Amino acid sequence: MSKKVEGQCRLCLQHGSLTYEHVPPRSSFNKTTRFQSVSFMDIMGLKDPFEEKIKGKIYQGGVGYHSYCLNCNNFLGLEYVNAYKQWSHAGAYAISQAEFDSCSFEVPNILPNEILKHVISMFIAINDINYGKAHPELLEFVKNPDSTELDSKYRIFTYFKKKGQIRYIPFMVTGTLSAGSVVACSEIAFTPYGFVITYDDKKPKPGLVEITRFKEHAPKIPVDIKMNINVFETHLPIPLDYRTKAAIQEGMKNNR
Ligand SMILES: [Zn+2]
Repeated sequence: MSKKVEGQCRLCLQHGSLTYEHVPPRSSFNKTTRFQSVSFMDIMGLKDPFEEKIKGKIYQGGVGYHSYCLNCNNFLGLEYVNAYKQWSHAGAYAISQAEFDSCSFEVPNILPNEILKHVISMFIAINDINYGKAHPELLEFVKNPDSTELDSKYRIFTYFKKKGQIRYIPFMVTGTLSAGSVVACSEIAFTPYGFVITYDDKKPKPGLVEITRFKEHAPKIPVDIKMNINVFETHLPIPLDYRTKAAIQEGMKNNR
């Protein structure tokens, strides 16, 4: 998994060798993750995704993508990974203690600006090269450790992910046209967190906690954060779908 491949770096857009970027970082519980690569259509074609198994290639050594050149990989490691590690370890402790589906969360001494930049770097990593070309504001924000500005068309949300599958959804437009609730978004869920980024979308996202304002925090100045975060389940590879197993099975029964 650590072999180098040639390509265009999704952050600096230079051509060259691309390293394997762990998403989330190895130090955030992603060192030895075993995971299966199956397509969205394979899963959605199943009558019951909880009863039937599909065969996909099994990978181990942590989920990741050949996204960044060595320079950018090192830059992210130096500037943001530790801040994200602290945030993810605090989150893991909080959900291990959570008895309800909402969790009061207090973390001392964290770096919100760096955490948000790392989260956005994960979205850049799971998308292809066209993503950064379509959203240069995201690249600029991540590339500049001092920046506290990001175009307001981008909104980032979080939740605690305790049960269900890992979820890696690149840019996607989801929802029903008839209901007028189409959302352009991407989503990553890997215990303890799920993250959603939306594009040009102003509608509220019930249950999700918005962390877009992390961008306004001064870099390198630790602060104490207190918030209530909901605990959600992620069973299907569908963005913004947090139904329990029972609710999904009930829905499938009604569709037959
Ligand atoms: Zn690069």
